Amino acid sequence: MDRQQEFVLRTIEERDIRFVRLWFTDVLGALKSVAVAPAELEGAFSEGIGFDGSVIEGFARVYEADMLAKPDPSTFQVLPWRGDNPGTARMFCDITLPDGAPSMADPRHVLQRTLAKAADQGFTFYTHPEIEFFLFEKGAKPGEQPTPIDQAGYFDHVPHGSAQDFRRAAITMLESMGISVEFSHHEGAPGQNEIDLRYADALSTADNIMTFRTVIKEVALEQGIFASFMPKPLADHPGSGMHTHMSLFDGDSNAFYEAGAPYQLSRTGRQFIAGLLHHGAEITAVTNQWVNSYKRLWGGGEAPAHLTWGHNNRSAMVRVPMYKPNKGQSSRVEVRSIDSACNPYLAFSVLLAAGLKGIEEGYELAPETEDDVWGLTDSERRAMGIKPLPASLSDAIEVMEESELVAETLGEHTFDFFLRNKRAEWADYRGQVTAFELERYLPRL
Ligand code: GLN
Ligand code: MG
Ligand code: MG
Ligand code: MG
Repeated sequence: MDRQQEFVLRTIEERDIRFVRLWFTDVLGALKSVAVAPAELEGAFSEGIGFDGSVIEGFARVYEADMLAKPDPSTFQVLPWRGDNPGTARMFCDITLPDGAPSMADPRHVLQRTLAKAADQGFTFYTHPEIEFFLFEKGAKPGEQPTPIDQAGYFDHVPHGSAQDFRRAAITMLESMGISVEFSHHEGAPGQNEIDLRYADALSTADNIMTFRTVIKEVALEQGIFASFMPKPLADHPGSGMHTHMSLFDGDSNAFYEAGAPYQLSRTGRQFIAGLLHHGAEITAVTNQWVNSYKRLWGGGEAPAHLTWGHNNRSAMVRVPMYKPNKGQSSRVEVRSIDSACNPYLAFSVLLAAGLKGIEEGYELAPETEDDVWGLTDSERRAMGIKPLPASLSDAIEVMEESELVAETLGEHTFDFFLRNKRAEWADYRGQVTAFELERYLPRL
């Protein structure tokens, strides 16, 4: 046993932890959990805990169902909402096949593999997500409009507001689990909030996002409300994005930083953006994976709908945020299309792969778009060479199917499963007769 594993076992004893939850994520980004007794942990570290992969979304076919979950001791954390007596803790797991080989369906492995590729080129990938979500009154039935808990807007300070109490409780819990929060505020839509996690390496950030979603849901339940990461729950208000700030570090130095360059952005940084834009359409099914995601992208409310970049332009898919000299080498690139309901492991993988491709191939970055892309006409956009993001899940699947970059990044198994699953989702959606159609057509046709 290594030192980290010993530390986990010792803590479990000292803190009277009786349940240890082993966490992992399915291909669509749902958190999975199996609780084991502390006595099982030594075996879990050495051999893993067996489970039936064929019932996990995207994991295995029935004839190769046996899989193992091996806890990563560096992710050990006590779960504050389960209380102390007795305590509950969790660890994220790596998923393997019975022979110990990594499962190609494990999203954490997909990200680890992509990070290793970046490491081969000398880079560590850091991310900082701004996570938006809604708080609703409890009790809306499936299919019914939910009621936001307040009518406040962007940065509003609501005296005695329940959103404020909520953010304070949620942030306290996140911090007690070692997840640092940088900013938090009310967002633009009624009931909408944003919490921004501090920069960390992308694997830790992805783990933290999974924990974050659980904490937000738990705290909401405690407060008698309901939290949702659905990309566009209210037709007339902005949706929930997960703007992600990204940078590559080469040792201690930020590879996106170049003193004196425009926006202090290096050639590597520009090529990374060029990669994001060049491959932006084919990775969108992964960063925006639901039918509903496209209602956000094409519904205004500061969500991007075109493959553009800019400096101070909030209709752009990629933004280079203001450079703050007192923050040292803080050059970074913010991608604004990705939404809060993605699988963070897979989404970070395809974003990183697209950016790296830009560097490898030395893509040239087109000039930035100064205009509000939304305000231009279609022909103006065409004249400026501005291309749209996919307009629907169906369009996004179609471009992803042709993408060598996404196939290579996700690996054949995950790529095939993902496409099959998404085609089925589109077919279910297309088969619906919606309230819109009944309202508009029934009286007239
Ligand atoms: N909610 C907006 C989106 O969907 C973002 C608003 C903002 O953070 N400026 O992307
Ligand atoms: Mg923000
Ligand atoms: Mg925001
Ligand atoms: Mg932002």
